[in-house]
Amino acid sequence: MADPQPLSGRRVGSFAYLTIKDRLPVILTKVIDFLCREKVSIGKQYGEAAQEGCKEVIGRLSQLKNEMQTNKPFRILQADPSASPHDDSDEYNRELEKFTIENEDQPKWFTAPWLYAECYMYARIHEAFYLCDPLRGFDPFLVQKQKALVDSKTAVDCLTKRVVTACNSVSNFTQQLLKQYVIQLLEVCLWGNRCDLSISGGADRAQESDIFSSLDKLRPQILDNNADLLWQLLVSLPEDQRDLVLVLDNAGFELVSDLCFLTFLMESALATSVTIHTKTRPWFVSDTLHSDLMWTIEKLREFGDSNAEMANKWANYLSSGQWKISENKFWTQHHDFASMNEVDPRLYSELCKASLVIFKGDLNYRKLTGDLDWPTNTSFQRALRGFSPAPILVLRVWWAYAERTAAAAMEHQSMADPAVTAPAHLTNTHSTTTLIRDVTFDLYNIPYLMHCLLSLSNPVSHSPDALPRNLFVTA
Ligand SMILES: [Mg+2]
Repeated sequence: MADPQPLSGRRVGSFAYLTIKDRLPVILTKVIDFLCREKVSIGKQYGEAAQEGCKEVIGRLSQLKNEMQTNKPFRILQADPSASPHDDSDEYNRELEKFTIENEDQPKWFTAPWLYAECYMYARIHEAFYLCDPLRGFDPFLVQKQKALVDSKTAVDCLTKRVVTACNSVSNFTQQLLKQYVIQLLEVCLWGNRCDLSISGGADRAQESDIFSSLDKLRPQILDNNADLLWQLLVSLPEDQRDLVLVLDNAGFELVSDLCFLTFLMESALATSVTIHTKTRPWFVSDTLHSDLMWTIEKLREFGDSNAEMANKWANYLSSGQWKISENKFWTQHHDFASMNEVDPRLYSELCKASLVIFKGDLNYRKLTGDLDWPTNTSFQRALRGFSPAPILVLRVWWAYAERTAAAAMEHQSMADPAVTAPAHLTNTHSTTTLIRDVTFDLYNIPYLMHCLLSLSNPVSHSPDALPRNLFVTA
C-alpha cells in the first residue's frame, strides 16, 4: 500500500494550515520585536556593527513573514555550506529543486509539505543572521530559553531534590520501588515536553510547580501507556550493555527532566552510557543546543543545593565519557527519519548500536511518521516505514485531537478537564498505537489539552522473551 500524501497547509483549519497562517508568523514577529527592542544592548555586547546588523536582519525576517502570509513560492537559500560545517542550505535547495521538477511549479507556503515548510522557516532565520557578519551564529531564541529555565526554578528544585535523594538510596531499593521511580521519572520526562516554545508560538511555557504532585492527575491523559514494557526492556538488557541514545527536544525544564531521568537510570545501573543528541543551530524556538546544555549545567550550579549536586553529576558523566554529546546537522534538516539511512548512513549506524533510542517531542514524532496524512488507526510500525535502528521510545505531548466541527468543539471543552479521558476513537485498547496526525483545533482557545501516548508499536522480538522493539510515548 502506498504511503499517504504529506500533510500540508492546503486544508483550511488543519493544524498545518493554522501553523503557517498564525503560529509561524507569530514566532517571526517575536524575533523581529526582540531585535527592535534589544538592538542597543546587542550593539553594546557585539559592537556597533551588530546594532546596524539588527536592522538588516529585521528587514530579511519581515520579508520572510510577508512571503509566508501572501503564499509566495519558496526561494533558494543563500547561506554558504563551505563556510560552516553546520550549514545545510544545500540540502534544502536540492529538495526545493526536486519539488519544482516533480510538480512543474515552485512550492509555496500553503501547498508544500508542512514538514518542509516549517523546517525551511528556521533555515531562513538561520540565513538571515548568517548573511550578517557581526550577527553570524546569533541565537534569537536564547533569552526565551534561558527565561524558561529560570521561571521553572521551583519545579527544578523539587525535581532535583527528589532525584538526588533517590539516587543516594537506590542501592537499598527493592525491584518494585526501583520500577516505581523509573516510571515516575519517565512520566516527568514526558510531561516536561509541555514546555515547548514552538508549539506555544513563542509564548512563555514554564513548569511552575512540583510536577510530582500532578502525576496522578495527569496519568489518565496517557492514551497508550506502555511504561511496563519499557521497564521490561530495560531490565532485560545485558548489564554491561545498556547504551542509551536520547534525541533531545527542548531546553528549560524539559531538558532538566530528561537529564534527571537519565541520571536515575545511570545511578540504578539501568543505563551504562548515554549519547545525547543536540541541535547544531537555533531550531523550533526552544530546541536544545550544545551550548544550552552547558549553560543549564552552570545555571543549576548557581541555583545551588540539590540542583548543584545534580549539575555536578552531569558534568562528571560528561568528563568521564559515560555521557557524550553528539551534534549532527541531520536533525535540523527537513528529512524524515525513514530517509536517515540513505541521507546520513553514519548517523543511522550510530543509532543501530544503541540499546534504546529515546525521541523527545513533536517534531521527532512527525519525522518518525513522515508527517503524512495517516489514518489514525495506522500502526506505529507501519508509519515508521522501515526506520528501525534499535528499540525506539517516543515521548511526546500533544495538545488536541479532533476535527474542527461543532461536535469536536464540545469534545474539546470536555477534554480540557484533566479528569476526562481521551475520546474512544483516539484510544487503542490493543495498545499497538494510535497515530496522532494533523488533528485540528483552535490552538488559541485551548489552554492545555494534552494527552500522553506511551504505546507500543508492532512488537518485534529481540530476545527470547519477545520484548517490544519499539515503544511509543506521546501526549
Ligand atoms: Mg522543540
